[in-house]
Amino acid sequence: MKRPFLKEEHEMFRKSLRQFLEKEAAPYLEEWEAKKQIPRSFWKKVGEQGFLCPQVDEKYGGLHADFGYAVVLAEEFDRISVGMVGFSLHNDIVIPYIESLGTEAQKQCWLSGAMSGELISAIAMTEPGVGSDLAAVQTTAIKDGDHYIVNGEKTFITNGFSADIVVTVCRTDPKSDPLYRGLSLLVIEADSPGFTKGKKLNKLGQHANDTCELIFEDTRVPAENLLGEEGKGFYYLMDHLQQERLLVAIQSMASAELMLEETIEYVKQRSAFGRQISQFQNTQFKLAELQTELEIGRVFIDRLIEEHMKEEEIVTQVSMAKWWTTELAKKVASECMQLHGGYGYMEEYEIARRYRDVAVSSIYAGSNEIMKTIIAKNMNL
Ligand SMILES: Cc1cc2nc3c(=O)[nH]c(=O)nc-3n(C[C@H](O)[C@H](O)[C@H](O)COP(=O)(O)OP(=O)(O)OC[C@H]3O[C@@H](n4cnc5c(N)ncnc54)[C@H](O)[C@@H]3O)c2cc1C
Repeated sequence: MKRPFLKEEHEMFRKSLRQFLEKEAAPYLEEWEAKKQIPRSFWKKVGEQGFLCPQVDEKYGGLHADFGYAVVLAEEFDRISVGMVGFSLHNDIVIPYIESLGTEAQKQCWLSGAMSGELISAIAMTEPGVGSDLAAVQTTAIKDGDHYIVNGEKTFITNGFSADIVVTVCRTDPKSDPLYRGLSLLVIEADSPGFTKGKKLNKLGQHANDTCELIFEDTRVPAENLLGEEGKGFYYLMDHLQQERLLVAIQSMASAELMLEETIEYVKQRSAFGRQISQFQNTQFKLAELQTELEIGRVFIDRLIEEHMKEEEIVTQVSMAKWWTTELAKKVASECMQLHGGYGYMEEYEIARRYRDVAVSSIYAGSNEIMKTIIAKNMNL
């Protein structure tokens, strides 16, 4: 299917990215999964090739690449493993906060490292007691002269263990009413006194990607690390969540398409009762149904990518895409595992890894239930 936002140059970029990942990532994935971390040396290789934050303005050494490149990057990293989600998070979720809200000094300080891979980023919203209800964040950042003193805990933070900087949602006004008006975004550097990282969390899937708790105990953060204005953190998050959720939808579609592709291959080469598995009507109907849903999803997602590139406000549609594509990926994983029989349950089969790796997509970046509350609100029910 033709994808109008992808030009010849995007496809050339995809080709070299795919070759790079097949050589430099695929052979090491198992090792990274066992260590629950992708090494910094790989981040640097990715940076050297120009695959980190290519969207950054030329003024800061970037390529000013359009969102089509982010789509290619998200799809190709996902093709290797869903556990490589930390790269899109860095490129297209965290660093854009610095690009859009940062002062000149902040951009000069952090953007070049973000592109070279010397600086890994994370975003910390979730806390042990607060997830979906973001306005209720409890981590405080209280002004003390030219510093903020930060106290609190964050959890489930992607890239958290590797991160050199963490865009952290903090409550700068503990008395604000409503609660969301008291939130601000602070960039907290890993070597800040009073900032420690918990151990890497044991997840069901996405093992290569490090996820951890972050602990702030009287952490001193220079006031100049505030992103944008004090008290506007919640609005900034809402502005940026459209892109974050669209990326999850893009990755889910990529995973779903890959799982179907692999399953079609599998059922053609496996036989039972003297016939290929692909010859059974049940197999054909299942795959025909999934192919249909993938076509529908592809048309929808590509339309949203185009609208997002035109900077249209499509929060409701992206919320629809986020819940629908993540449920679709989970359904494809389950149906395709079934068609693999017992082999589908074995670690060395891609479908088994995808089955556990895509499970979380309906939970993170705003759970699917939260997506439906957004859609319902905008339906004026
Ligand atoms: C692997 C992984 C990576 C993550 N990465 C990050 C990260 O990098 N940075 C970060 O800040 N966070 C991250 N998260 C956290 C993630 O965004 C949260 O887990 C998610 O927002 C849900 O919050 P919660 O876990 O506290 O669930 P809760 O908010 O406790 O929700 C529990 C259940 O209740 C439902 N629910 C809650 N409110 C409503 C409502 N109003 N109506 C209906 N149902 C509702 C939820 O949908 C869910 O099913 C990550 C999580 C995981 C698992």
